[in-house]
This record gives sequence, structure tokens and C-alpha cells, in this order.
Amino acid sequence: MEAILENETKITVNEKSVHELDSLFKPKAIAIIGASSKELSIGNVILKNLIHYGYTGKIFPINPKEPTVRDIKAYPTIFDVPGDIDLAHVIIPSKFVPQIIEDCGKRGIKSVIINSAGFSEMGEEGVALQKAFLANAKKYGVRIFGPNCQGIINADPQYNAYCDFTFTFPKPGSISIVALSGGVGAFIMQSLFDLEIGMHMYASNGNACDVSISEVVKYYGDDDGTKAIILYTEGFHKPKEFMDVAKIVSKKKPILAMKSGRTEEGAKAAASHTGSLAGVDITTELIFEKTGILAFNNEEEMCQAAMAFSTQPIPKGNRVGIITNSGGPAVIATDELVSAGLQLPALSDRAKNILIETMLPEATIGNPIDVVATGGGKHFRSALDVLMQEETIDSVYINFVTAPFTDTDEVARQIVEVNKQKRKPIVCNFMTNMSLERFQVTAKILKDGGVPCYSFPTTAAKALGALYKYYKVQNRNIGEAKIFNDVNKTEVENILLQAKNEKKEFLKSAQTYNILSQYKIPVADWQIANDVNDAIKAAEEIGFPVVIKADAESLVHKSDSGGVVINLKNADEVKATVEKMKKAFEAKDLKFFVQKFLSDGRELIAGVSAKKDLGHLIMFGIGGIYVEVMKDVVFKISPVTEMEANEMLSQIKTSKLLDGVRGEKGIHKQSVIEIIQRISQLVTDFPQIQEMDLNPIMAFEDKAFVVDARIKIKKD
Ligand code: ADP
Ligand code: MG
Repeated sequence: MEAILENETKITVNEKSVHELDSLFKPKAIAIIGASSKELSIGNVILKNLIHYGYTGKIFPINPKEPTVRDIKAYPTIFDVPGDIDLAHVIIPSKFVPQIIEDCGKRGIKSVIINSAGFSEMGEEGVALQKAFLANAKKYGVRIFGPNCQGIINADPQYNAYCDFTFTFPKPGSISIVALSGGVGAFIMQSLFDLEIGMHMYASNGNACDVSISEVVKYYGDDDGTKAIILYTEGFHKPKEFMDVAKIVSKKKPILAMKSGRTEEGAKAAASHTGSLAGVDITTELIFEKTGILAFNNEEEMCQAAMAFSTQPIPKGNRVGIITNSGGPAVIATDELVSAGLQLPALSDRAKNILIETMLPEATIGNPIDVVATGGGKHFRSALDVLMQEETIDSVYINFVTAPFTDTDEVARQIVEVNKQKRKPIVCNFMTNMSLERFQVTAKILKDGGVPCYSFPTTAAKALGALYKYYKVQNRNIGEAKIFNDVNKTEVENILLQAKNEKKEFLKSAQTYNILSQYKIPVADWQIANDVNDAIKAAEEIGFPVVIKADAESLVHKSDSGGVVINLKNADEVKATVEKMKKAFEAKDLKFFVQKFLSDGRELIAGVSAKKDLGHLIMFGIGGIYVEVMKDVVFKISPVTEMEANEMLSQIKTSKLLDGVRGEKGIHKQSVIEIIQRISQLVTDFPQIQEMDLNPIMAFEDKAFVVDARIKIKKD
């Protein structure tokens, strides 16, 4: 029976371990094509690193001229090497690479890291070379990592595969890194090393012509040795593919990423609001949000959080208990914890009774529990035990200042013992003088015991905040986008085709409003008039009061130039307005857009802007003519689900306005939420829509109407 069971487990383990990228990350034999005896060369450093890191597999330097490189037998070509080769490093001039890849294919090598540069990053000639070697790789099923890249590292002692030319030699651990930029990847790896955080795998894939960031993230997601992933990228080649992967992986383990640098300078002034408000590239950030990737403001915060992720369980809620032996730091921590969304619940009577018995008389019993500076190991322990037992506490934050009159090692040992139970996450703000040997010992006890230690209350609190954020990711389900079946797709198709045939970028008002109506997006009653009599007739049919807007292709912001006159109460006012506009606007195609006047609405904006290879960004916020000044808008990537549309309303800074302030009535949120979902469906159905602005949408207590709309489509 036992033997059978053992067999069975072996089979499943084997099945799981067979993965295409295993030849890259878990190579058993590596050839270094371009291995060199020259000390300061990449072909030498890679070999040196493999040896130095204790690579457990076979190394075959390939060099046609040298019999040995760094005292290891070298071979003139890969065909002279005895036995299998899983992985080859290619460190030769780019022009020879296509032929070498062909050879690798013939030789049955499964993965190749091309460290050499001189490909797609170098203009036309390089692009052609990259295409040529890729074609050869495809022919034989060789996977290419790079080119123009650092490589990979597998710190698992089973492999110790340091297939990289950098200089940090990480301790084995559970954090895996994937970075497009080698420079950033390397300093993140070094930062983890400095913080004494172990690393599992590392990948920096340069031009990423074959093995992509998405593929590596997926691989790490399935890899049992990876507890958390650090990702650095400045954008995505195939954002959709990445999102599909990230969505799944982020539910399994945390993905930590940095918000990439954004500056206003990058913004292109667009004709319409959504374009200019989206401005600089926020897409990466939105991809992170939608897929549950934890975005950090800077690399330091990210690495500090990684320390907590590498050792601590994920909390099961936002309720934190604080233990402190000094008052002030607890105040600072509380501020940070609360702004990260955590709460400090009161302790139960049961907990308080235990603490009254066990704490020093001068201790404060509550949340925070102040064990006071004279508190020792047993006091910390009792406080920890109590918090671990409290059902209303999900995580523990500790301020530990090394009071010279206490046995700090004993305090550390008690913290470590409780930490080892792994019941609830613990972070520790450890305040000490590290130049004193005595406290170095205390620090080592904590570190060896897997307690994430920080030297500022805010840093520790932020790390705990990140753990909580991941709890939210795990429990967030945005659902699927709703499909409205009452829309008329064919009619919109016709209108868009007509606009395309007219070779117009911006749709005419009539076309725009008709499209909205076909998707049941409520618009204020309107008609288009050619002259005064038309306008009066239209106004009478719509019913006074009305608004008249000068309507011509060249007019973008109509009200800036007196092209919008509101609240016209009778035919005379309509007549006067039309005549005035006729004089003011010279446009040949000038018409008069007559619209129902809707008074006292809350002006909102919804908009859309197309993103290549991704879909559309959907925007929502406070609208009207001051939208650019207020900039109170939020974005999501289409298709937007009902939950996301809901979130948009609450994520704007002035979301309270929507509920009504100072006796004002609130707006009918559900109508607006539906409009957002319907425009999301519209642009998903018609990707040729490049931009759309509904500004304003007039929202009332019981409904909402679009009163100004603009749609821009792809010209060709
Ligand atoms: P533009 O954005 O091109 O300047 P709009 O059509 O948005 O022109 O009109 C400008 C402003 O006029 C709106 O922000 C709103 O305050 C007001 N307005 C426009 N149409 C109406 C309407 N039908 N009912 C009430 N107010 C309106
Ligand atoms: Mg407008």
C-alpha cells in the first residue's frame, strides 16, 4: 500500500515538474557559447558566476581556440559536447547568432539565453537578425530568452543556477523577480539581499522576443518555491495576454510591482477631455489594479513589503492589534495603519482580564497594548498570545525598542516563538542601536526567526498594509461585464460606416446622439435646425425652455466661444440666439443644435479613450466646463463590470457630492452606473471608436441624461 502511494505521488510530482521553461530555470547542463578566458568579459563572468554560486549541473564552455576556460574543459563547438545540454548562453557577436541558434536546434538544446546585444534595439539590421534567429528557433522549438538580456538565476540549492553576469549572490528564499530592465532587476535583487530576504528565481529578459514577462509570471505562479513575485516593467507588448495571466496568478500569490514613472511632460494635448485627462500613461497602473497586482510608489516600499510577504501569512481581515513598549511610535504606526485601511478594535473583556493579570501595573491595557519600556519577554509573550487568540484581531504590529535595562534577547525569542506558529501575520518595528553588539544579537534572533523587522514605525505599518491589501485582492471579485441585449448593434455599425465613408474623424452631432440612443444611453431631447424657423419649430416640439448650441465640425469646446446659450424660454429668444450665432460663427457647415434645457442637474463626465492592443480606458468624474481644472476623474480598463462602475463613483475625490451635501439632493447613482456600463459595451463592440466624451451628463435624483457628446473614430 505504502509503495503504491509513494509511486502515485511520484507520478504527480513528475507531471507537474515537466514544463517547457524548466530547461531554462532548472537546467541540468549548460553550454556557454562564447566562454572566454578574458577576465573582464561577459563570457568569462558568466562562467565564473556559475562556479562561484555552486551550480550543481554540468558546465560546457564552448570556445574554438582554448582547451580550457577557467580550468574547465572547453569544446570547439556544441556538437563536440558529450551528453544532453538543456540550456545555452550565447555571448557572440549578433551576426553569428542566427546560425548558432540553428545549431542549437539541431543539437536538441531546449532553451537559449542570448546575452549578446545588437538586435531589435539597434535598428533595421538588428531587427532582421532577430527575425532570422527567431525563425530558426521556431523551426526546432528552441525557446529564446532575451536577446540583449542578463539571464536567469535559480537560487534553489538543488540547482544554484546563476545564469547571469551580475554580482549579487542571493541567499535561497521564496521571492522571485521578473524584470524587463536588467538594471532595475539587479538593484532590486541587491536590495533584497541587503534586507536579508531570500530569493528563489530571477529573470531579466531584455528584448523579450520569445519568452515573455507574462510567461515568466505564469511560470512563477505555478512554481511551489515562489511565495511572492516582484515584477518590474515599463509597459507591455501584449497587455491582454499579460492581464489574463496576472488575473489568475495574483489570486494564487502576491505580485508586487512598482508604479512606473509618469510625468506630465509625456502628455499629448488631445482635442477632447478624456484624451488629455488620461494624458500620461496610466495604463500600466490600471492593468495592475484590474488584475490584482500590488502597486508600490517606490522600490524601497516594495522591497520592504516583500520582506513581510516572504515570511508572513496573509491576514484574514483588516483588524490589527498593536503591542508597543513606547508610546510615540505607536501613534505614528496607528496613523499609517489606519490610512492603509486597517482598524484597531477594542480588546474583549477576556483578553483584558488576562492582561491585567500578566502585565506590569503601569502597562496600558487596550489596543495598543503598552507593555512599557520595563516590560520583558514574558510581558511581550502574554500580549502576543492574547492577540493571537482574539477572534477580532487579524494581524499584529509590534514596536520593540531595545530598552537597555531589559533582556532584549528574551523579548526577541518570545516574539520568534509566536511568529513560528504562523497564526497571524506579525511585523516588527525594531528600534535600536545596531552598532552595539548586544543589540546585533537581538536583531539576529528576530531575523533568524523570520520576523520582518523595520527601522521606522511607518515602514513596518506600510508593510502590514501591503499584506492587508493582498487580502483584499484575494477576496475581490469584480465579476464579468454585463451584456445589455436591448442595444441595436447593426444600426451603430451603419452609422459608423457612414462616418468612415465621409472620411470624418469626429462624428456629426446627429450621428453621435443616434449612436448613444441605439445603446439606450439616455440623452436630452434634441433636434438639428438649419435656420431660425427650423430652430423655433424644433424648440416648440421639444418644449421650452431649450438650449441652442452652435453645431459645426470645427467647434470643439462650444461654450468657450459663445456657442452655447441656455434656458431660452420662448420663440423670440430662440430667434435672437440663432441670429447672433450666425453672425459670430463663420463655419460653412454651421447648424443649430436645439436641446431640452435641464436645470439644476449635477454635471458629470464619462469618457473613453482607445489604447492599442488593450481596449479602451473608461473615465468617470465630475464634469462640466471646469473638468480640466478639477481633474476629479478616475479610469478603468474596458470592459467595465458593474462592480467597477460602482467603484468609479466612490473613487473620485468628491464622491460625497454625489450623495448630496447641505440639504442638496443626491443623484441617482444606478443610472450613472448603467451609463458607464453601456458605454463600455459600446466601445467593446466598436473598437474603431477612438475617443468619446459625454460631458456633461446631467444627473438628477431619479435619472441622468447626456447633454453634450463627442465621438472620434479611426480615420482609415
Ligand atoms: P461645450 O462643452 O462644447 O462647451 P456643452 O454642450 O457641454 O458645450 O455646454 C456647456 C455647458 O452648458 C454645460 O457644461 C452645461 O453647464 C450647460 N448646458 C449645456 N447643455 C445643457 C442642457 N441641455 N441643459 C442644461 N445645461 C446645459
Ligand atoms: Mg461639454
